[in-house]
Amino acid sequence: MKRFFLTTAIDYVNSRPHLGTAYEKVCADVIARYKRLCGFDTRFLMGNDEHSQNVFKQATEQRLDPLTYCGLMEQEFRKTWQRLDVSFDDFIRTTEPRHKAGVTELTNRIYAAGDIYEGVYEGWYCVSCEEFKQEKDLVNGNCPLHPTQKPEWIREKNYFFRLSTYQQPLLDHFAAHPEFLQPEIRRNEILRLIEGGLMDISVSRAGQSWGIPLPFDPGSVVYVWFDALINYASAVGLGADMELFERWWPADLHVIGKDITRFHTVIWPAMLMAARLPLPRQVFGHGFMTLNGQRMSKSLGTAIDPIEAANRVGHDPLRLYLVKEIVFGSDGDFTWERYDERYNADLANNLGNLVSRVVAMAARYRGSRLAPTGAGSDQLVRIGEQVADDYRKAMDRFVLHEGAAAAFRLVDAANEYIAATAPWTLAKDPSAAARLTQVLFDAAEAIRLAAVLLEPIIPSSSREILRRVGAATDGLNFDRDGHWRNDGERVIVQDGPLWPRKEHTTVNDNETKPSGVPPTAAAPAPVPSSAQGTADAPSVSSTPAPGTPAPGTPAPSTPAPSTAAPSTAAPENRISIDEFMKVELRVAKVLAAERVPKSNRLLKLQVDVGTEHRTLVAGIAEAYEPESLVGKTVVIVFNLKPAKLMGIESNGMVLAASPDGGKPTVVSFDEPPAPGTRVR
Ligand SMILES: [Zn+2]
Repeated sequence: MKRFFLTTAIDYVNSRPHLGTAYEKVCADVIARYKRLCGFDTRFLMGNDEHSQNVFKQATEQRLDPLTYCGLMEQEFRKTWQRLDVSFDDFIRTTEPRHKAGVTELTNRIYAAGDIYEGVYEGWYCVSCEEFKQEKDLVNGNCPLHPTQKPEWIREKNYFFRLSTYQQPLLDHFAAHPEFLQPEIRRNEILRLIEGGLMDISVSRAGQSWGIPLPFDPGSVVYVWFDALINYASAVGLGADMELFERWWPADLHVIGKDITRFHTVIWPAMLMAARLPLPRQVFGHGFMTLNGQRMSKSLGTAIDPIEAANRVGHDPLRLYLVKEIVFGSDGDFTWERYDERYNADLANNLGNLVSRVVAMAARYRGSRLAPTGAGSDQLVRIGEQVADDYRKAMDRFVLHEGAAAAFRLVDAANEYIAATAPWTLAKDPSAAARLTQVLFDAAEAIRLAAVLLEPIIPSSSREILRRVGAATDGLNFDRDGHWRNDGERVIVQDGPLWPRKEHTTVNDNETKPSGVPPTAAAPAPVPSSAQGTADAPSVSSTPAPGTPAPGTPAPSTPAPSTAAPSTAAPENRISIDEFMKVELRVAKVLAAERVPKSNRLLKLQVDVGTEHRTLVAGIAEAYEPESLVGKTVVIVFNLKPAKLMGIESNGMVLAASPDGGKPTVVSFDEPPAPGTRVR
């Protein structure tokens, strides 16, 4: 069986992942899932980089043993990746014994080859970058990436790696393997850098305890950057399980951010050359995510929590946005408006609407059973085959956005096909019965094929679509399933809307939403709506007005531009007074408040709700000092099921206005009513 081993960068654990971090993992996951779809025995590695002095400092500040701290952070990372449906096969932590074995083995090999030597390092060191800086790189004497931080002048015994001797071998490798570094623009940058000459680099730090001891001088630890790169090899058994290593090494693909391309395409291959080990086949340096055009950063307040983004409309819409809207390799921007817009345009109005209409018509006209009655539509079959071919070519080159776009061309073609064939007209003509069946079969087949192509990008949604059009969902294989098929009976399944339309909001819309416990909805709950999923309604987004065509008539195949979306809740998404009254909102007085240990976001509150005292956890720690809340009167959701957060059972939820990208403001009163008063 063909094998494919791919990796992402391992992450620093000094803060929780933001959307920029998640972007890399989602794109790598799409590649991993695509390779599995193509029948590769795939191994997808992710992990955490723990031997950083910043991590050590962070742990010490929180009065935690560093390993305990790293263990807690691992849970945060895993939770995020799980929420985004990232399907890694292995997760390595650089504090694991297997990693120590790999680092020891590789370092020993390079030392034995004479490419590590002892010396003295003297110069500037930026603690935040954990990188030595040259005088010429400093701006006003400070690190360019950390302008408020003065680098330290360091003089210590160091071991050095003879990177300088690998200039020519690296140039030769780049020449022999033009595919080694992608995209092209990064390759040119790195080639110029290598051509400019390479300096030997420090591979150890003296006098530190947090790290892996150098095997030939245990008084020093391996420098964190050197240590981190080796994870790719230690995860597949270097120095511990050589049989596993032989099986999986070299890696087929390292997916990394453009800022660390130099480490992965200069230092790492040179290390492997020195150790007489094969080089990874390819490195892909992706671009950065920005928020409204600004660099995504925790300290600038421009970091998006990927879990929040996934909770807004579901993880698959988020994955689709990241893959389809951003040219893989270039920088890409995220805005909440655009996110909602694309959700409505691609999913609610387009793919979701198509599935609803075809499934509804199959139910109405053919009792949900479809089998071909002749040859499929020439034009649609041709587009289907062309799209599958374009998709495969794009995905094989990791041009992920083109792969996604190809699948959506088939969705568009299916919409146009329905408009052109007008099944609702065919249904009135008894002599067109066979034709109608074939038209519906073709439409269902186009949906099936598009869902197979989209499976790596929106995996759970694709499987749900396949289920609805009566296709197999397990063991998908591109060679078998990635082509137009005009055979077999399909038993269609009718179900609720896949993607209810999301109301357009702007960042300035201070929509009030409950805060306190993270939303738990994996996807928006289906809303009761007569306009979706039934043959009696024309489309998701409109109700037939007098004089509109007969039931079963689809909406125009081009979705309405989402900028025209109403700014108030569409009638079909509104709830009844009875539904609202199920939510019991009550006045509560805060008796005590404290930070939840190990969380930057959560506060533990003790509140008086009139009839009892309750404990609840609220995600407002970034906006409120605990002390400032004591004595304050707030509003809570009284009848919420208890939820456990960081080990604390939360009994209720504090209402807060939560502007996108801003800090929450709890709902309060000028003249507080008595605790327990109902709010409605
Ligand atoms: Zn720095």
